[in-house]
Amino acid sequence: MSHAEAPAPVIKAAEHEAESHLPMGELPANHLFDTVLPVRPALLNRGSVERMKPNLVEELLAGGGARAMVLSGRQALIHADALVLADAAQLRDRLRDADAGPQLVVYLGAALGSSSLPPGTEILLFILSETMDARAAGLPADSSWEGFRDVAARLDPTHTALFVEASAIANWHATHTHCPRCGTPTNVEASGWVRRCPADGSEHYPRTDPAIIVTVVGPDGRLLLGGGGPLDARNYSTLAGFVEPGESLEQAVVREILEEVGVRVRACQYLGSQSWPFPASLMLGFTAVTDDAEAKPDGVEVTRARWFSREELQAAVLSGEITISTRLSIARSLIEHWYGGVIQDRPLDE
Ligand SMILES: [Zn+2]
Repeated sequence: MSHAEAPAPVIKAAEHEAESHLPMGELPANHLFDTVLPVRPALLNRGSVERMKPNLVEELLAGGGARAMVLSGRQALIHADALVLADAAQLRDRLRDADAGPQLVVYLGAALGSSSLPPGTEILLFILSETMDARAAGLPADSSWEGFRDVAARLDPTHTALFVEASAIANWHATHTHCPRCGTPTNVEASGWVRRCPADGSEHYPRTDPAIIVTVVGPDGRLLLGGGGPLDARNYSTLAGFVEPGESLEQAVVREILEEVGVRVRACQYLGSQSWPFPASLMLGFTAVTDDAEAKPDGVEVTRARWFSREELQAAVLSGEITISTRLSIARSLIEHWYGGVIQDRPLDE
């Protein structure tokens, strides 16, 4: 049964104890005490022990069989709706011959049986300082440089995971070239997963910025979505913001929602997360309840806020009145978690 057909009332957090005595038909939609988002298992063994070996990358290049994906800035080399995963040693030689790097090589891991690659395939990341003509590297001439948002919908989960991991580590290297203590340029160690300062010996590890992303549910069970930019824009999404130093995740949820839409969150629950390294975020998904029925956008980050019942949201998406986040995003997963099922997208040809 779809919750769109039979929306159920949201039970207040204080009523949790009573909830377990309710007959099944009276349980609210997946809210606060029901399911969390499903775990998407890792597709790569990152080899956190193996990558500490000082010459791992050189050994993999010399041993043959390792594959390499290529990243420059935020773009990866793509061919036929997949990452180009070239023979790593050959590609390294051809890039050298073409005087094109790579600037840095990072060990990404070995394919697990759950991935779309032959199990055990070792994957390296070649980071180039500039994009280059694929033909010069002996790669298919119709390869193209594409950003994650442009290509993610066409990639399989393994290639998506590789693009995300590669982006996260490459963005860190690009912005953490010097020691934060003394300013000396740092050296890369641990197959690309540590940078060490030669002056004071300090070790520096890849960084991730936690951000909360939240479905806010009102006293009548409706969902609050918001958007930025022009007042007449059609896109609506979950509210989100960065966690500040010294703050718990829950405190960040309460503060951000109050700041952005003037709504006081009474209780919230963690549901799941998504890496979003553009440039360095980890999105921590929550659902929250409020007793407030009115939302007041701050006019800066959020210019539009609107409450939706399940029927209203599905109808608004189908009619094209609004757009919501794509299926690639945790925002969509959170919205559908509240909805209690799949929200149908507007057909592309309309
Ligand atoms: Zn230093």
